[in-house]
Amino acid sequence: MRFSKLFGKTSREAPAEAESASHQLLLRAGMIAQIAAGIYSYLPSGWRVLRKIENIIREEMDKAGGQELMLPVLQPFELWQQSGRYVSFGQTMFTVTDRKEHKLALGPTHEEVIADLAHRYVQSYRDLPLLVYQIQTKFRDEPRPRGGLLRVREFIMKDLYSFDVDEAALDENYRKMSQAYQNIYARCGLPTSIVEADSGAIGGKESHEFMVIAETGEDEMVFCPHCGYSANVEKAQISKAIKKDVIASEAKQPLPLEEIATPEQKTIEEVADFLGVPPEQTLKAVFYIADGKLIFVVIRGDLEVNETKLRNTLKCTELRLATEDEVQQTGIVVGFASPIGIKGTKVIADDSITMGSNFITGANRQGYHFKNANYPRDFQVDITADIALAHHGDSCPKCDSNLSSTRGIEVGHIFKLGTFISEKLGASFLDQDGVSRPAVMGCYGIGLGRLLAAIVEQSHDDKGIIWPLSVAPYQVYLCLLHLDSPEVASAAEKVYQELEDAGIEVLFDDRDESPGVKFNDADLLGIPLRLTLSPRTLQNQSIEAKWRTEKETQLLPLENVSAKVNKLLREKLAR
Ligand SMILES: [Zn+2]
Repeated sequence: MRFSKLFGKTSREAPAEAESASHQLLLRAGMIAQIAAGIYSYLPSGWRVLRKIENIIREEMDKAGGQELMLPVLQPFELWQQSGRYVSFGQTMFTVTDRKEHKLALGPTHEEVIADLAHRYVQSYRDLPLLVYQIQTKFRDEPRPRGGLLRVREFIMKDLYSFDVDEAALDENYRKMSQAYQNIYARCGLPTSIVEADSGAIGGKESHEFMVIAETGEDEMVFCPHCGYSANVEKAQISKAIKKDVIASEAKQPLPLEEIATPEQKTIEEVADFLGVPPEQTLKAVFYIADGKLIFVVIRGDLEVNETKLRNTLKCTELRLATEDEVQQTGIVVGFASPIGIKGTKVIADDSITMGSNFITGANRQGYHFKNANYPRDFQVDITADIALAHHGDSCPKCDSNLSSTRGIEVGHIFKLGTFISEKLGASFLDQDGVSRPAVMGCYGIGLGRLLAAIVEQSHDDKGIIWPLSVAPYQVYLCLLHLDSPEVASAAEKVYQELEDAGIEVLFDDRDESPGVKFNDADLLGIPLRLTLSPRTLQNQSIEAKWRTEKETQLLPLENVSAKVNKLLREKLAR
């Protein structure tokens, strides 16, 4: 490809709206262009990278036994009503209405469509296991598209669906897919960690995410350096046992409930300080509005509410903190709220309230708290569940060591769905005894644009992108200096032809620009190997070679240059 003909311009300035490195660099390199919030075009050089990632994914899916097919983007809304998942997707789902007033969904994912296909074509246990996948566009109406390709509303995704006879067979395919995912990231030059994850709107009983550690990542994950436990903070558990040095064991015997004056002491810190007790000995009240209803959440004072866990516990779609007015309207005294004597409001408790005794809690009276509140002696709750948020320094749920935390970008998510979708859509099979059973499903997704952006987040410097050779838009950047010298120009043309003929992917910078501009663009575009031909190198019948990742240059003889370049590329790929 000649740079002079390449569609898409490089630019020196980072656009003001681009906050992440990948967003800035991909725009500056002329690889993507935004057309609306969360909607992007891939320009030719960016599309080449995407196609390479796509091929790696396709090869690994095929190797793992996947069969590629293509499902429609337009999906009858009835399928979503049948599965019931239109509720959990809520406003994230784009819908359209056709001319006959018939509602259709623009596929945010394809479990319904594929389960409907399985319902028609899978009959017996002999048809299983079945692994089918597609690489196709998805639509999700994200409330806050951001970060360039990191969070968008239209994106290309590889989604594979597995159908099995039982849980054990699903486990086997899940393990196989997990390995295929690790192969994909390794081939894309991207180090990832696998973490336990929340299943979110997709549903199912177990899921894992593949994370790239990055400061700019939207996700937070915790991990235990001691035993290897790792989870997205949305899902992460912690050990809530109170440490012995915090509360003496003699304080554990339940004492009589007592009302005490705590004038002007409203927050947990103020009350704990005022009474000289650790936060672990207090109960915190937090109020939410879940699908329009006020919810009273009670949690031990040293912990915070994890809203994802709370949403899952309540099985609600809309969740937000309640305002003071909304709380007061129900007769609860803000700052002195108490689960003791509460009526007419749903109470959700974190299970930490069962780990501890003689708590301080509000008295639901201005200026007063209760001392020695004990559950269930003094109050009842509607649901007890783990709804606590994990933090750096909390105790590991497996081994009690201190957890660490870091930010990351999710580049893949795999789910054990079980049978809840196949049951609703009739994806069943006859087992060996002729008994009809629902197929056990799994689903496995990778967003290709997100993966591309994560590679840039992970692999760049202040000059530009550093593409791994396996996904680079071109393998070689051929830089011609001094166009005004006919000898150099004709020698460069010859090298370009020779490399092209040898099947090497070359971007030939034949533009009439200064060496500075050309070298800057070479670095910005991040093409792995730069070859420079100038009057000086031609004098020695050679060409200068430099890797994007290295400072040193080397001279290659011009004679049979394609064989030498091929050797360099092969060695690099093998590393
Ligand atoms: Zn641990």
